[in-house]
Amino acid sequence: MSLQERDRKHIWHPLTQHQTAAAPIGIVKAKDALLWDEDGNEYVDGIASWYTAMYGHCNDYIISCASEQMKELDQVVFTGFTHKPAVELSEKLMRILPSNQQKIFFNDNGSTAVEAGIKMALQYHFNKGEKRDTLLAFEGGFHGDTFGAMSVSGLSVYNGPFKDFFLKVERIPVPTKDNLAELLIKLKQICAENKCAAFVYEPLVQGAAGMKFHDVGGLEEILKLCKQNNILCIADEVMTGFGKTGKYFASSYLEIQPDIICLSKALTAGMVAMSITSCTQPVFDAFLDDEIGKGFFHAHTYSANPIACATAIAGIELLTSEEIQKDISLIARAHRSFAKKIADHPKVDAVRSLGVIFALDLNVEMERYGSLRDQLFEFFMKQGVFLRPLGNTIYMIPPYVITDKQLEKIYISIEKSLSIF
Ligand SMILES: *Cc1c(COP(=O)(O)O)cnc(C)c1O
Repeated sequence: MSLQERDRKHIWHPLTQHQTAAAPIGIVKAKDALLWDEDGNEYVDGIASWYTAMYGHCNDYIISCASEQMKELDQVVFTGFTHKPAVELSEKLMRILPSNQQKIFFNDNGSTAVEAGIKMALQYHFNKGEKRDTLLAFEGGFHGDTFGAMSVSGLSVYNGPFKDFFLKVERIPVPTKDNLAELLIKLKQICAENKCAAFVYEPLVQGAAGMKFHDVGGLEEILKLCKQNNILCIADEVMTGFGKTGKYFASSYLEIQPDIICLSKALTAGMVAMSITSCTQPVFDAFLDDEIGKGFFHAHTYSANPIACATAIAGIELLTSEEIQKDISLIARAHRSFAKKIADHPKVDAVRSLGVIFALDLNVEMERYGSLRDQLFEFFMKQGVFLRPLGNTIYMIPPYVITDKQLEKIYISIEKSLSIF
């Protein structure tokens, strides 16, 4: 029996309406930028498996660091104990994170990194004797699927059943050149009428919204206003982190630095799951007290799992290497010239790229998970390219190690896809 057939019996897939969805494809092997299915078909992984495997699948260096760690120390409770991989990772992160970040808190996925960030912000104000009950977020953002993360996500098309249980959130549009003045007036009004604790945002690129970019200067103005009102700024860099925008973090493009940063996905290079919520010294200090309850009583069993930490250390070593930095700028350049080439196509509404992120909006209306979108997905798979269009947006975030030929294959298949509808 094929994996596909055996899967049907017991497995419940994420983001899937099992009554109508096509059967999942059994993947048996991955290497660098390639995936192979159980029938022997080869695919170029154009989105690095949700932007995790940025240094390539089954990367030999990462495998060797993880397996060395496995033989030394596999897992230990991280309350009351510490270990070298966690300490070393914190030191490595300090060298690349925005300079105001001082403390590293460990979680196990992107949603829980955001969840911990929100809880930190709420307790920060609580510990200071101030009740602040409102969160600020962008329209169309995505921050994960736990309750706090869902609440701040603006993309809650399928979150209907849970809406009544959400945290209190006020929403603002992403800044553009045209709406900034109006937006700032609205934001000032929200700040005056509510007790805002934190602003949760994806800096510069909203990933799940279809790689929507926003204005650096505008974001800077919003952050400035938040800082003036003592609203903690929580940058969700789960997607943008670790080089994808061309800098180590999207926040590095900004002068005003976030109080809290959420990291996951490429943090562990696609090998295992882990996430981090980093913060500044003042945020950490607000939890220091003789009273135990003022501490941050939030934990995950696998917090700072040593193998995950070893993987993350290896990932940062690769990220900061000359070779990977060169790969990133070559991909960025190739994206820019492809964008220029395709921009005037009659089926194309808009194109944009930043670092290794490329997105193209089609000139047609499409549902987020509608049939035309499915048709596009299948077309790409037939071409040997794995891309997951989001509504009428086709995007790619290829692994840094993708070859010129593989990248060219993605470009060609995107161009071809424009003539199937
Ligand atoms: C993927 C993602 C998350 C959620 O991460 P999970 O590991 O899937 O829980 C949160 N924020 C952003 C920006 C993401 O891209």
